[in-house]
Amino acid sequence: MSHTKPPIIWLNVFIFLSSFLIACVFVPWFGLTKGFGAEHLIWLVISFSFCNLSITAGYHRLWSHKTYEAHWSIRLIFAIGGAFALQNSVLHWSSDHRIHHKHVDHIDKDPYAATRGFWFSHIGWMLRNYETNPIKEYSNCRDLKRDSIVIWQHKNYLWLALATNLGFPMLLGLIYDDILSMFLVVGAFRLVLSHHSTFFINSLAHIWGSQPYTDKNSARDNTLLSIFTFGEGYHNYHHIFENDYRNGIYWWQYDPTKWLIKTMSWLGLANKLKVTSKFKIEKAKAEQLLINTKKKVMQLPNSESIQNTLNTELEALIEKMREFYDVRREVLSIKAKDLNSKYERSILELKYRVAKKEFVVQKKNWQKLNLQYT
Ligand SMILES: [Zn+2]
Ligand SMILES: [Zn+2]
Repeated sequence: MSHTKPPIIWLNVFIFLSSFLIACVFVPWFGLTKGFGAEHLIWLVISFSFCNLSITAGYHRLWSHKTYEAHWSIRLIFAIGGAFALQNSVLHWSSDHRIHHKHVDHIDKDPYAATRGFWFSHIGWMLRNYETNPIKEYSNCRDLKRDSIVIWQHKNYLWLALATNLGFPMLLGLIYDDILSMFLVVGAFRLVLSHHSTFFINSLAHIWGSQPYTDKNSARDNTLLSIFTFGEGYHNYHHIFENDYRNGIYWWQYDPTKWLIKTMSWLGLANKLKVTSKFKIEKAKAEQLLINTKKKVMQLPNSESIQNTLNTELEALIEKMREFYDVRREVLSIKAKDLNSKYERSILELKYRVAKKEFVVQKKNWQKLNLQYT
């Protein structure tokens, strides 16, 4: 790594700094002296959600990771929303992001490596010409080059960004007869909110939170962060299972991006939604728990025998887990085919009940054993 700092990208510094100053100084000043109306809040929520969902459901889960396929109308909407979010073109964003996943935390190769500190991963990487994307002509996004909307957006990014960021607030200003206030709220304030909430995924989501699935990289799960990032806070899960259209996999986890994609699939606007098998998820969790417990028992005098017990119990758990999910898959496929023989069906149901019981018992044993050492 070179010690001389690369040249500053003044355009980026100007955009980030001016929008930040307007949002933090002029917006409160305007609010205190002249006041804002309900229309400002409504349009702020709409435009902020539009920008961020275009990034999370579009740039991230659709284009970068191909976790589902979307109708052209949805891709067009996300392409416009991404330009409104002012985060570069789909092609550029996805190329950077694919490198981020491939070389996560690598000090030179990850474009926004959290191992280089909060500031660098949050915004610093965009303020200087670090040249962390060595990929020529987006060759790591050849699949995206076949998407005519991606190419159209890439070629027309500048005017799309100007039309949405300047033209749209101005249009609202003309409708409500107050251009300045709409420019302050829907222009600058929305942009700063949208920028930093997205940037938190590269910075905070790699620093603050839990690691239930893997500690092989710095990515964390953080529910609080998910609230501000439309569900992207479950970043530990995302980095191990990046092809899953969900980040928050449980029904109670706040992941509006997942809900949007699912809703679109019900409406026929999205299909081929990819999900990770429950077996793989449970296995990853159990293996990570083993690593955590082993670290805790390392200093104990009988550490070796405890570790042996842990290994044996984990092996037994994975075995029971595999049996259960295999039978479960069989039951589900049989249901679809509607098995004729009553006898075969009852045998399978019995097998399922036994496998489930054995898996649940072993899972409880496993959790109890690990709890002893917490
Ligand atoms: Zn990702
Ligand atoms: Zn990440």
